[in-house]
Amino acid sequence: MRIILLGAPGAGKGTVAKLLTEYDGSVQISTGDILRSAVKAGSEMGKQAKDYMDRGDLVPDSLIMKIMESRLQEADCQKGFILDGFPRTIPQAQELANLLDNLDIALDFVVNLNVPRDVVLDRLTTRRTCSNPACQEIYNIKSNPPNTDGSCKKCGSLTIQRADETEEAITSRIQVYEEKTAPLIGFYEKMGILADILSLNSKDTVSLIIAKLDQNRCASCCCKS
Ligand code: ADP
Ligand code: ZN
Repeated sequence: MRIILLGAPGAGKGTVAKLLTEYDGSVQISTGDILRSAVKAGSEMGKQAKDYMDRGDLVPDSLIMKIMESRLQEADCQKGFILDGFPRTIPQAQELANLLDNLDIALDFVVNLNVPRDVVLDRLTTRRTCSNPACQEIYNIKSNPPNTDGSCKKCGSLTIQRADETEEAITSRIQVYEEKTAPLIGFYEKMGILADILSLNSKDTVSLIIAKLDQNRCASCCCKS
């Protein structure tokens, strides 16, 4: 599959993306994960991104486009990809459209994970993330807690609250989302490729996305009746 996941911070893009990779081997591409690894590794890219991220601001479009241009051309993307956290601005969406055109890649569709504001807020403040960059498993202290000593169930590393998950940073991330990212819903709606899904449960959302993929495939295959 070749899809984009849109949604507010805390809408569940990461969880849905992970579940979708299990369906057909498409890779999850999370710009947030790529940037966090770069910050941890202390690379040049990480140094450029860190301050923006800690404040809950977006990192500059130019840096993101540089990352994505090379990422989309890596071999593992041939099977398909799920874009999680990218594009985040109208300029990123426009540049992505050009890039996909040049690479001769067509998207299946764009999914908007529609989640009520109070649900999103509650999820963000109760989220914990595994500190091991190779794992990054996501927990929720209410619904899906890590081990009682705070360690990751998968790899045993300590789970932490991300710097951008303090109340101040969360407020700023939601504001940035409303201002810069929410307009992408209209952008893709106009292109006729938007699927808006009321998403309260990741598993149901994944089933809906897979049903829609099958439906699209079937509409253009030999079993069309
Ligand atoms: P969220 O949990 O808010 O969806 P992510 O994990 O996707 O956050 O991203 C974390 C941070 O990384 C963002 O707050 C932002 O600073 C930066 N970031 C990630 N993706 C992008 C992007 N496409 N454009 C600009 N900044 C980004
Ligand atoms: Zn872990």
